[in-house]
Amino acid sequence: MNARGHTDTTRKRRRPRVVYNLDRLPYLSDSEKARLRMVTEKYAFRANEYYLSLIDWSDPDDPIRRLIIPDVEELNTWGKLDASKEHAITVGKGIQHKYTHTVLLLANETCPSFCRYCFRKRLFMNGTDEVTYDLEPGIEYIREHQEVNNVLLTGGDPLVLPTPRLERILAALRRIDHVRIIRIGTKMPAFDPFRFINDDYLIDVLRKYSRPDRRIYMMCHFDHPRELTDEAREAINRVLEAGVVCANQNPIVRGISDDPGVMATLWNELSYIGVPQYYVFQCRPTIGNQPYAVPIVEAYHRIEEAKKSCSGLAKRLKYTMSHESGKIEVIGVDARHIYLKYHRAKHQVDRQRILVCHRDDQALWLDQLKPVDGYRNEYYRSGVEQRRGFGIGSDSGPYS
Ligand code: SF4
Repeated sequence: MNARGHTDTTRKRRRPRVVYNLDRLPYLSDSEKARLRMVTEKYAFRANEYYLSLIDWSDPDDPIRRLIIPDVEELNTWGKLDASKEHAITVGKGIQHKYTHTVLLLANETCPSFCRYCFRKRLFMNGTDEVTYDLEPGIEYIREHQEVNNVLLTGGDPLVLPTPRLERILAALRRIDHVRIIRIGTKMPAFDPFRFINDDYLIDVLRKYSRPDRRIYMMCHFDHPRELTDEAREAINRVLEAGVVCANQNPIVRGISDDPGVMATLWNELSYIGVPQYYVFQCRPTIGNQPYAVPIVEAYHRIEEAKKSCSGLAKRLKYTMSHESGKIEVIGVDARHIYLKYHRAKHQVDRQRILVCHRDDQALWLDQLKPVDGYRNEYYRSGVEQRRGFGIGSDSGPYS
């Protein structure tokens, strides 16, 4: 039986098969497939039989379905390919350095399935050349930058890589004394928990390189409590027993993770199994993402509503925008204003800065907000040189 009580055998199969073609899905009508093909010609589709088995196909609004099955509204003209201007912080192929102590290595360009709202969907598109399989230049860059004490392996999903390759990367990073934390950003526990259940070698590798004085953190990506199947919980347990620290981060997405009851259940359940919620991200204005975006004010209120049903441990999260200028927490909304604070800042001048903006219930991103006068003046006066070229506060919105 699957999560919604349907008879199913696919979840018992070890390492589920990948499905690249919507035409192979028996639950979609021919007319649906024809319409959705227009979407997949632009934005790739990828799923696997395990994750597909979690869908309740009798519900057209099923959140798991919404997460991986395309929506024709993705074709609306909206958003940018690289909404957070990651190209501006790319210091080498597959190497991003934005915050002093942190470097990102884009370890591959695919995931076990594709989230429709992905902010890096450009990696899955033809002609992409951002990721390199030769991580040695990235390792060398980190070796030369003594200030870097934590490295995030991301992509795509690094756990798609074969275990021996992952071990070589972890071993190389562990040979660099100043790297204390290695983070692995992954949705594998949700998309394919058998990756952890079946591969003892992977668990041994995690145990070997997550040391008492320098841990590996697994930054999980669960969007909905229905992803927390028995298999996913078993996967997480194996990872925790290997000495890896886990946390969860996900965007607030219309129809998937925007319901206060769903959020509260997810965060509470995650706290029970040792994966506390770390960030809830504002959905970036990336092309194709219009149907998934929730305005800032609405998202803030829904998150606050969800927190009312959570323990302190379950609601330690920060609701943030991963803006090109930094990670900006939404700390409050009242009748007239939206209050923001830089949690991480690209430029020193913005560190811990508070911004007060006029309330705009339609705004989806910082660039659409207007700071109130006092804050506007201070914001522009300080660090204007540093920010030059990054479009902060420009009148041009993020939407084309
Ligand atoms: S897991 Fe992350 S990188 Fe992969 S498709 Fe989903 S949002 Fe994109």
